[in-house]
Amino acid sequence: MVYVKEIENYLSEILPGLGVNKQRELTRLIYEIAKRDKKTPPEILPTEKNLNFERAKKILLQKRYPRAFGIAPKNAFYLPKLELDPSQRADLTVRPFYPKQVYIESAVQDTPLAARARQMFPKAHFEIIEKKQLVGSENFSRRTETLLIHKEQYDFVKPCPCSQGSACCGYNLINLGFGCRFECEYCFLQQYQNLHAILLPANVQDFLTKIDGVNWRKGPFDRPRIGSGEFTDSLVFDELTRYTQDIVPFFRARAHLQFEFKTTSTCIDGLLRAGGAENVVVSWSVNAPQFIEQVEHFTPDLTARLQAAAEVARAGYRLGFHFDPVVPFDGWKEAYTQAAQQIAQSVSVDKVAWISVGLLRFSRELKKAVENRFPENTILDGEFLLEFDGKMRYPQALREEVYAYFVPLLRKLFPHTHVYICMEDPAVVKPYL
Ligand code: SF4
Repeated sequence: MVYVKEIENYLSEILPGLGVNKQRELTRLIYEIAKRDKKTPPEILPTEKNLNFERAKKILLQKRYPRAFGIAPKNAFYLPKLELDPSQRADLTVRPFYPKQVYIESAVQDTPLAARARQMFPKAHFEIIEKKQLVGSENFSRRTETLLIHKEQYDFVKPCPCSQGSACCGYNLINLGFGCRFECEYCFLQQYQNLHAILLPANVQDFLTKIDGVNWRKGPFDRPRIGSGEFTDSLVFDELTRYTQDIVPFFRARAHLQFEFKTTSTCIDGLLRAGGAENVVVSWSVNAPQFIEQVEHFTPDLTARLQAAAEVARAGYRLGFHFDPVVPFDGWKEAYTQAAQQIAQSVSVDKVAWISVGLLRFSRELKKAVENRFPENTILDGEFLLEFDGKMRYPQALREEVYAYFVPLLRKLFPHTHVYICMEDPAVVKPYL
């Protein structure tokens, strides 16, 4: 554990009289190096004759960004003030999803979803409210204590917003829910979700009535793709929501479209009950097993995900896999090769409609959220630079190296599958189109 006070005291000792901004930048650099390399401030920045701010910053940038220093522009190094708040630390105690408080909008109080919530959580406190309001905990970690069942009024279908300036795959979204019970250290919801509760709409039929007549984008795919997993995991709450029971038959009758359930879970009972459909793709977020274990807390391991995938494929669904986020840690080539091979051995490769690959990227705000919620994380130890879309990304040369290795490998293992790169600089994606 790195103590910020220790770094500040050391800097005051070796570089007395530093201004606030200079102190802030050096503190952050030492903090990040100390966390990554497990070294003390004097080991990272030994005192030397005539040491000044410029020299200290250069030494530290070289150590923090050995690959990018001297190549990346100076303004690509993002060095915000360290604002660590121990009260934000993620609670990783394993517990079932059982909200303490359930709010139900009066308009949907007599729906099957509301009835199931009462049946599944008899010990919860239920309250009928007139309309969606700010409920939930101050603390993101306690979001699963509150469930809000509501009637969605406006936000039904929309094009995927992608990332500004990225190559677009023409995806379309219906937002069936907000919030997740897993704790992936990289999850953007940590910074994005301002209502710390699980939100589930009870009017899935209203979403489906909006589908016909839309002029859907289809990108490079044979049919438009519509998915529900932007702000939640598509299946993790399906035992409660039973959205699968409405969605699967609806799309089975519309062969010109395809629907994607995107999940990290193994909650497939609803899919099996609904029967298969060729144009319904069930896709799993996948990663190297050691990454799943260290970073994707509470989620099933790769083997369990693949067993679920094999089962839904046997039931008649097609499959998708998202290697996202790929993190080029030491030994990444072997680890990701083995994960890809494990997929190819576990499921029928002809059933795999698409596989996407995307390296870890995140907003500046998310960096601070991860630092606070997972202070011992290793995912932020990489060399992240402010990139073309304002997000933090690995240096372009490293991203290109990963894609150059992994995309051809996946295309070889899955010859009939559409393998594509997600949310990237169009120049990086071009060789793989
Ligand atoms: S499964 Fe997806 S939505 Fe859930 S915590 Fe992980 S990244 Fe976030």
